Amino acid sequence: MSVESVFPQLEALLPHVQKPIQYVGGELNSTVKDWNSCDVRWALMYPDAYEVGLPNQGVMILYEVLNEREGVLAERTYSVWPDLEELMRQHNVPQFTVDSHRPVSAFDVFGVSFSTELGYTNLLTALDLAGIPLDAADRTEDHPVVVAGGHAAFNPEPIADFIDCAVIGDGEQAVLDMTEIIRAWKAEGRPGGRDELLFRLARTGSVYVPKFYDVEYLADGRISRVVPNRSGVPWRVSKHTVMDLDEWPYPKQPLVPLAETVHERMSVEIFRGCTRGCRFCQAGMITRPVRERSITGIGEMVDKGLKATGFEEVGLLSLSSADHTEIGDIAKGLADRYEEDKIGLSLPSTRVDAFNIDLANELTRNGRRSGLTFAPEGGSERIRKVINKMVSEEDLIRTVATAYGNGWRQVKLYFMCGLPTETDDDVLQIADMATKVIAKGREVSGKNDIRCTVSIGGFVPKPHTPFQWAPQLSAEETDARLEKLRDKIRGDKKYGRSIGFRYHDGKPGIVEGLLSRGDRRVGAVIRAVYEDGGRFDGWREHFSYDRWMQCAERTLPAFGLDVDWYTTRERTYEEVLPWDHLDSGLDKDWLWEDWQDSLDETEVEDCRWTPCFDCGVCPQMQTEIQIGPTGRKLLPLSVK
Ligand code: SF4
Repeated sequence: MSVESVFPQLEALLPHVQKPIQYVGGELNSTVKDWNSCDVRWALMYPDAYEVGLPNQGVMILYEVLNEREGVLAERTYSVWPDLEELMRQHNVPQFTVDSHRPVSAFDVFGVSFSTELGYTNLLTALDLAGIPLDAADRTEDHPVVVAGGHAAFNPEPIADFIDCAVIGDGEQAVLDMTEIIRAWKAEGRPGGRDELLFRLARTGSVYVPKFYDVEYLADGRISRVVPNRSGVPWRVSKHTVMDLDEWPYPKQPLVPLAETVHERMSVEIFRGCTRGCRFCQAGMITRPVRERSITGIGEMVDKGLKATGFEEVGLLSLSSADHTEIGDIAKGLADRYEEDKIGLSLPSTRVDAFNIDLANELTRNGRRSGLTFAPEGGSERIRKVINKMVSEEDLIRTVATAYGNGWRQVKLYFMCGLPTETDDDVLQIADMATKVIAKGREVSGKNDIRCTVSIGGFVPKPHTPFQWAPQLSAEETDARLEKLRDKIRGDKKYGRSIGFRYHDGKPGIVEGLLSRGDRRVGAVIRAVYEDGGRFDGWREHFSYDRWMQCAERTLPAFGLDVDWYTTRERTYEEVLPWDHLDSGLDKDWLWEDWQDSLDETEVEDCRWTPCFDCGVCPQMQTEIQIGPTGRKLLPLSVK
């Protein structure tokens, strides 16, 4: 059956909305396959605006992996801005894909990748615009299977009512496995309907179908247990891990955006996972173990990607890119290879202790020396022990001194406020650190125009981390602590003017905290916020704390709960956590011990360089740390 494009109806609306170009598709390297020659069709969504969603690597990779497979097509859809949403509702235009402008409801699967929980209301908007019932229970065989992925899917419970299933971990192989199950079920004439398809997915042990699990509660509101309600469904659902990144060199043909986006560069993921063990970092914990892409694989991806796109900058992505065992050779090799073409290199995440000036010089050889960003995360040595961010002030001062001495004039330092056990003094020491950085910079450069910007985010405890039991600091306390820091910086006559100070108030962090550690009952809050007009909660201009709090006050008392119960409450060892049945590989007892170590200010080494300390991931997931050095060099390729 042929499915018509909605573009003729959409086109009439575009002159009346902002940035219409973001809805037209046809980007360089986008793909439109013949609808009728494919038997499994995916609509992939990043639940944010085009400018944020298009560069998302996860969606870009899955889009290409699926489209490469015979008989399978994948198209993309993004959140439409409220101006277009209003017009689409008035003119009955459904949520559409940007590739062929087909209605999302016509696809077999609607896959949504959540980097952050603040995209949940955008999921509901897209479902509603697509004509897909918000409640999974109301969907029929005619509706797509709605699947959640991305880091937030490691606790999908707050959206359990709205999704059919969730996949945790690496998506490349997982989407292909799901595709084959759907294909077989369709070829057999859809036996048992939607329920049977979901059951086939669930029994693999790696697709979580919430409706096959009942959550039982204690009288005080805590969970007593989560239990499968269907035989053949596993008690725990495992994450996926891709072991050999060289076998998955995606994206091979990165998409080139039509409209302005947050990143306009070609990105290559140089390794996945991180075992540094920062206790606040969910990304590091859930992506273990470390798996490096080889220097040869990186070189080939950069070469092919640049030829396919014409980008002038290459981003070497990972959770801590300077930690790649061959980063020096990679940076030098790429800087040599692209010197003539003036291709810039960037390392979006860099650790103070893994950074050295040779690396920085290679990275900027073909570009500008604008600014350097480091993330000590905690202001005092004590709090850095608590969070296991093993960076000494000495390391930091030495690194920035070298940077200032080599021509940099700006350093940006990133910190968090509200960390477990934190006091005002830990935060006030941020000012001391910034002062020392500037003083050192003036000394080594002999110049006075040295600047240091301090950027501060509110800490949100996340599932599958040692801080999953920790109380979150209230928005009021966060704001009060940061006020004191601001006063201290402003009161510094000698250095205050050279310190930039950026922080967001603590309110969005509380909503993120509610959604991160929420359970199925939080779904009522999300629905109420959506119905009240909540959209684009990751955007300062759209986010409304008051709306979230009012909706929570309307919905949570029915369960005898409130926002504090989910956010500022400390959990005990015995408590069943909403995500305990989703297996990230991390042993819960190890996480608890690490939480206790944190309270004792005891640090844990990186298992890349020390013996395994049994976090549980490798034996549980049958994986292993995979690092170099390989000793190979980045061979010059024919660039032209
Ligand atoms: S199991 Fe051992 S080697 Fe593997 S990630 Fe955990 S601590 Fe590291």
